[in-house]
Amino acid sequence: MTVETHEFKAEMKRMMELIVHSLYSNEEIFLRELISNASDAIDKIRFQSITEPEVLEGDGDWKIKILADSEAGTLTIRDNGIGMDRDSVIENIGTVAKSGTSAFLAKLQETDAANVPELIGQFGLGFYSSFIVADEVTVESRMAGDPNAGVRWKSDGEGEYSIETIEKATRGTDVILHLKEDKKDYLNEWRVQNIVKKFSDFIEHPVVMDVEIPPPPKEEGENGDAETAEPTIEEKTLNSGQAIWLRNKAEVKPEEYHDFYKHLSKDMHDPAKVIHYSAEGNIEFKALLFIPQERPFALFEPERKNGLNLYIKRVFVMDDCEDLLPPYLRFVHGVVDASDLPLNVSRELLQQNRVVETIRKNLVGKILSSLKDMLAKDYDNYLKFYKNFGAILKEGIYIDWNRRDDLAELALYPSVAKPAGEFVTLQQYYEAMPSKQEEIYYLVGENRETLEKSPYLESLREKGFDVLLMTDPVDEWAIGSLREYKGKPFKAIDKGDIKLDDEEKAEEEEKKKTFGNLLEFLNQTIEPVSEVRLSHRLKESAACLVAREEGNSAYMENLMKRLGREDEIGASPRILEINPDHPAVKTLHTLFEANAEDPKVADFSWLLYDQAVLAEGSKVQDPQAFARRVNDLIVRSGLL
Ligand code: ADP
Ligand code: MG
Repeated sequence: MTVETHEFKAEMKRMMELIVHSLYSNEEIFLRELISNASDAIDKIRFQSITEPEVLEGDGDWKIKILADSEAGTLTIRDNGIGMDRDSVIENIGTVAKSGTSAFLAKLQETDAANVPELIGQFGLGFYSSFIVADEVTVESRMAGDPNAGVRWKSDGEGEYSIETIEKATRGTDVILHLKEDKKDYLNEWRVQNIVKKFSDFIEHPVVMDVEIPPPPKEEGENGDAETAEPTIEEKTLNSGQAIWLRNKAEVKPEEYHDFYKHLSKDMHDPAKVIHYSAEGNIEFKALLFIPQERPFALFEPERKNGLNLYIKRVFVMDDCEDLLPPYLRFVHGVVDASDLPLNVSRELLQQNRVVETIRKNLVGKILSSLKDMLAKDYDNYLKFYKNFGAILKEGIYIDWNRRDDLAELALYPSVAKPAGEFVTLQQYYEAMPSKQEEIYYLVGENRETLEKSPYLESLREKGFDVLLMTDPVDEWAIGSLREYKGKPFKAIDKGDIKLDDEEKAEEEEKKKTFGNLLEFLNQTIEPVSEVRLSHRLKESAACLVAREEGNSAYMENLMKRLGREDEIGASPRILEINPDHPAVKTLHTLFEANAEDPKVADFSWLLYDQAVLAEGSKVQDPQAFARRVNDLIVRSGLL
């Protein structure tokens, strides 16, 4: 039999070093990872055997066995799962194709040592944690249904691995860890039992180990006859192995839920909320769902898998089942165990399945009502969750027409009236609106700090109207799709016009007369804008730009530009608003009335425009001309 040697990719070497290095304080997790892989492998063959019973080769007695060999110094994790052939060994443990090693390495650099196990789990690199305790790892595997395809993979984790064909009588995988000199304590039966109990108790398949049962205590009068009784070897099951979602809710301890969540999600923190229920009636299923509080590392990686684990009549069918939840709930982890689906269901079939559709509706309803409950009764916890996942949740407002209103109730926004770090719901905003306020005001932008300084807020602030400050890119779309809340329309304060009361309207007419000629001049001079008009929103500032009612905000345009996607929305023309009460505008007016031809009039007009461009967070078109005008102004101040 030939032995082939392969090199790991260069970045892989480095990754392994880093994993081993940063995991030393959490080294026990290697066992959890290997048991979890063994359990996954058994789930796979069990599922396959439903349609192809012959792959079982008569062995359907699922088992994960841990063997400690003190003489050889090895710890073996053996399963009778699906096994791997040569190609899948190379693909699954010889390369890291899945999540991209560089993305992982980048994250690793910025992650605290304590969080590294989580990172490794989330990036699908659990197998390599073997090298924390082993200086050599051998994998012997044989795939189900192919007695001649045994394979041995061996590596010291340094740079190379070897691979050869072997004969292996039984189906499944042995992972043989040759323990490092200082890690030999993992051969100790108690040590192993404790770790299994701690991390893998709910693994559904039995995790067993051979243990020595001491001989029964000697009877009175047998002194001196010590050699007769030998210890016996028994196979002991180390885990309780109950499917936690099938248990009675009242009997499950919070820690048990939390441990199971951590196993499912690879998150090391407790979940923000556990939802455990059974649906009865037309379509029956049990669900155990978890809402996380911490943001997973790979949340925005394109390869990240989302979705629940689907069981059908207690048989694991698939993980990452995306059809059970809409994308805006992709942060939810959990298990659904359904009774009304055929066991041979495929991912494709699930997509248009009516039962799945019903289950999904039910799950969404349950999750949203739980979130609502949390918002009402456990606000601090909700806030933690919301800060990490609110932006995803709000995607639902424009994706899911039917749930739009429920989702809107779950949104939290900073607002002008709230101190930094505090939020309002739409309901709270609505209730606090003064009776003369007809619209719900909002402003979209990068962050609260910049928004708070925005000139658009000036007059509304003075009137005592609160303004929602929206800082998630999804907000603009979400509000665009909501349009109104309890009959009050949303109004972006940097778009269109602000409504005036009667008294203000009368003043407005007066000012229009006074400033009419100047406005006409500005309308001709400042070509980049579609209109120049008097402002109703400014108090302290001299000028600002606004979008048309139906246009995009400057924030959205700048964001799309940064993403290189400006073509998708197109530039919307701006309106220049000037504040007739501002001394700079009054001065310009006086100069203009005295002599419209004075070059200062045009220069100052452009300066008004350019400062408005800067204030909305955009770039001035001609920085040189801008600088020249500012410098002229300094010189003209006449101090020289
Ligand atoms: P993950 O489990 O997240 O995919 P791992 O690094 O733990 O990442 O394992 C990598 C892959 O190796 C698994 O997805 C699986 O395909 C394969 N594998 C690992 N252990 C076993 C096993 N005991 N039996 C069959 N396949 C296995
Ligand atoms: Mg794994």
